Amino acid sequence: MDTHDTMPSVLLFFDKQRFIFNAGEGLQRFCTEHKIKLSKIDHICLSRVCSETVGGLPGLLLTLAGMGDGLSVNIWGPSNLNLLVDAMKCFIPHHAMVHTNLISHTGPLQVDSFHNCASVASNFKDVKISAILLQPNGVEDSDVKPSDVSVIYVCELNESKGKFHKEKADALGIKVKTKFRELTEGKSVKSDLLDITVHPSDVMGAPVPGPVVIIVDCPTDSHAQKLTSTQSLNDYYSDSSCQSQSCKIVNCVIHLGPASVVSSSHYKKWMNKFSSAQHVMAGYAMNKVQNPILKSSARITTRLSYLCPQLFPLMSSTSDHDFTQEACFFMLDEVYSLDWRPLFILRPHARLGLDRSDVPSPLAASAVIDELLLEIPDIIDATQHVSQLWQKPTATNKCAISFQDSKGLIDEPILDENSHPCCLENIRRDDLEITFLGTGSSQPSKYRNVTAIYFNLFSNGSLLLDCGEGTLAQLKRRYGSEGAENAVRHLACVWISHIHADHHVGLVRILTLRRDLLKGVPHDPLIVIGPSHLNLFLDAYQRLEDLDMQFLDNKSTTVTSWETFNFDNESNKTITSTSCLEESCLQGSSKRMKLSIPIDNVATSALLTRLKKVLNKAGLERIISFPVVHCPEAFGVILKAADRINSVGKVIPGWKVVYSGDTRPCSETIEASEGAAILIHEATFEDGMAGEAIAKNHSTTKEAIDVGNSADAYRIILTHFSQRYPKIPVLDELSMHKTCIAFDLMTINIADLHVLPEVIPYLKLLFRTEMLIDDSDDHIVEADL
Ligand SMILES: [Zn+2]
Ligand SMILES: [Zn+2]
Repeated sequence: MDTHDTMPSVLLFFDKQRFIFNAGEGLQRFCTEHKIKLSKIDHICLSRVCSETVGGLPGLLLTLAGMGDGLSVNIWGPSNLNLLVDAMKCFIPHHAMVHTNLISHTGPLQVDSFHNCASVASNFKDVKISAILLQPNGVEDSDVKPSDVSVIYVCELNESKGKFHKEKADALGIKVKTKFRELTEGKSVKSDLLDITVHPSDVMGAPVPGPVVIIVDCPTDSHAQKLTSTQSLNDYYSDSSCQSQSCKIVNCVIHLGPASVVSSSHYKKWMNKFSSAQHVMAGYAMNKVQNPILKSSARITTRLSYLCPQLFPLMSSTSDHDFTQEACFFMLDEVYSLDWRPLFILRPHARLGLDRSDVPSPLAASAVIDELLLEIPDIIDATQHVSQLWQKPTATNKCAISFQDSKGLIDEPILDENSHPCCLENIRRDDLEITFLGTGSSQPSKYRNVTAIYFNLFSNGSLLLDCGEGTLAQLKRRYGSEGAENAVRHLACVWISHIHADHHVGLVRILTLRRDLLKGVPHDPLIVIGPSHLNLFLDAYQRLEDLDMQFLDNKSTTVTSWETFNFDNESNKTITSTSCLEESCLQGSSKRMKLSIPIDNVATSALLTRLKKVLNKAGLERIISFPVVHCPEAFGVILKAADRINSVGKVIPGWKVVYSGDTRPCSETIEASEGAAILIHEATFEDGMAGEAIAKNHSTTKEAIDVGNSADAYRIILTHFSQRYPKIPVLDELSMHKTCIAFDLMTINIADLHVLPEVIPYLKLLFRTEMLIDDSDDHIVEADL
């Protein structure tokens, strides 16, 4: 698709009713940035039901439910919408579900009799919205699959009354003022001076027809060919093909189709039929715009990148500020004039048309830096210090265990914690790089997207741990379009910690993109490891569209499962044992740690065999899930790299990286993290909010650090911050000597682990004036149900 993140959305706003057309990923984040209150949405109309058009829907429903406003929303869409709704029920509670209305034929949107008709009908007071079903060309009606249908929405505003001519009323002898009003309201009145009845038409000008907007999502050339023969559109053409008198004048046509379709000569010919309309190429034009939609986060990333390009590399692209754009949103409204998006004004009539007064100036990286230098002049020195950190000898050429071996780091208060674990000996930069795609909890915010961690194993492939809404867009912001596609193409597997929406809603988009990228290329389905509830959702979703994946339960990848698996395979003598991992890092595991389901079926065993192969190919020895304390079936994960052999034939143990998922501090995480090179631990709350952390089954900063210290992990990286801390969480300096905090789009190379804690004070400098808690009401809703 042309837009980087998702299909564009269109917002149609009136004083009392609001419609949104399509709800792709990033919708909420966009609205937060632009202060658009989604709680006021009455209708969500979908042109199609697929990951691009509905990726933002689950998050939106959870947010609306959190506000207590969910029930007043209606969703409209083609008949396969019910498959999506069924699937979403696997993780969205009943009270968060909204009314769904399936559109099965062309005609005005009508509420079926089961719902609260009165309130919904009144929502259509200002505008008539009709659906026109568009099918691929040359397919018999009976053979059309619901997933092939695209709904065209025609929005016709009511006509407005003609002008009241007072002089005509005077001439007809109307003297009583209240009669003027009656006439404008359409009532006939008796003349005060003459013996006649005066009708509204005698004193009123001709009514002005209401503006008409058409929203067309034409997904393929085949659909485009069908456009011209779609009878229901005939009334809206203004060229000679419109024979009937009832021909309506269309003011604006919004095209959501991909460039390959809407730029074809065939499509252009069809567009010319609306000779008087203004056309908005929503999917097409965006390619040329060099503006980040999410300016606030782009601004922070630019600042971080200036200070520490090693952790925040700028995307390699043709332009230094080529932040990826996501959805393009249109607002049609007479009142709202917000920051930026194309605005098409429908009323008042005098302002009818596309409003270009609001076009934004591009956000140039240089301007952001100028502003930064003015605001924090010491940043120049800081930048130099940071770059010196990277020039220090890394000391990873030998395994430093004793005090004297940590030479070069003698300034550090606690020396032994800076000795490098053996696994980092002669580590290469192309061994592992971890990029945080989202570091916030519960719902996407201006500065922090929801959880996703990308493991780049370079030529060995890649891995995703958790996959919140907008993961793909974040990948594109960090690696560019092509880079993101490569990342998705080379995924070895995806691992999901638990069923909360902030950890998996972006998965479907990743899977569908991978499916499309690998079309025609020999490949295996992607292995997705997750909680069993996720499987229910993915299974149900696959009735809507194919995800090209194979599911493996987290419980099948615990220590015990691997042991049983190895044992079974050994006894069958089909695979040679590699149980040294179990010996080295999991010996004597506690009972709970081993929680698993017996590998009693052939399919699971076959999938584990395949997973093992996939991991080995990626240079990994094992991926091990372990239970944590959060919600039912919540897991953390251990990634263990294969051992290496150095130049003199010595075996160097493979690194171990542990991710906690969402959890209270627990013995299982400590056990799993023993001797880990990196523990990535959630730190949702600041230290003063321990009560909150207990109530919501999360951890505080200190608790997370304590877990890492108890396990003797080499480095602790904190993430999953409450959106209360929009830019930087509240930190206690003293306990940070081996700890680092994650930011969105931060990339940590395994060869740089030694400098991590030293960077933090400099990063804090950047937020010196901004370390305030954001208590504004527009972002906190706990979707982490
Ligand atoms: Zn979470
Ligand atoms: Zn959670």
